[in-house]
Amino acid sequence: MRLFVALELPPEVKDRLASLAGGLPGVRWVRPENYHLTLRFIGEVPGHLAEELDLALAAIRAKPFPLSLSGLGTFEKGGRVQSLHVVAERTPGLAHLQSKIETALQRSGLPAERKRFAPHVTLARTEGAALPKLAGFIQAHNLFRTEPVMVERFVLYSSQLGKEAAVYTPEVEYDLAA
Ligand code: ATP
Ligand code: MG
Repeated sequence: MRLFVALELPPEVKDRLASLAGGLPGVRWVRPENYHLTLRFIGEVPGHLAEELDLALAAIRAKPFPLSLSGLGTFEKGGRVQSLHVVAERTPGLAHLQSKIETALQRSGLPAERKRFAPHVTLARTEGAALPKLAGFIQAHNLFRTEPVMVERFVLYSSQLGKEAAVYTPEVEYDLAA
């Protein structure tokens, strides 16, 4: 299975994000039902390892915390802008949960994540976009922000890659508790 750990977003946040989509030729907007905040990409793992990872994630103790989204950004690779996202504030609560997840997964045998955690919600794939238009869009929306919402759980998702869009299925939910 192809797995990743992420935060689900409440409907009011998804609605705000969906209101940003549109008006950029050549981009592929993420479907609102697919919006999420990835805490750790796991990738393809055999079933027995998936079970171990689930046990490790279930043993994590962390408190609920507020999550706010603020501003837009892009990721680039090889000089091309690959994706457009909304930035999540890197608060202590979010950083703490992410680091607990990273530690738990490494202890279960996953190789360390090399990239620094950059919390975000992907809005669109932008390989086909005109750069000036994209820059203008980011400018126009740079004051975008959401009211804080409490994060009460995190989720292990499986991902099935498709031609149009990936299908994410929540496999296990892990509650945070004060
Ligand atoms: P597609 O790859 O078809 O565009 P997707 O990226 O939405 O679909 P996945 O590739 O299964 O679906 O990724 C699931 C989640 O993990 C997404 O949030 C994606 O950005 C993130 N992700 C995927 N690969 C990595 C990686 N190598 N490092 C960090 N995060 C990743
Ligand atoms: Mg991908």
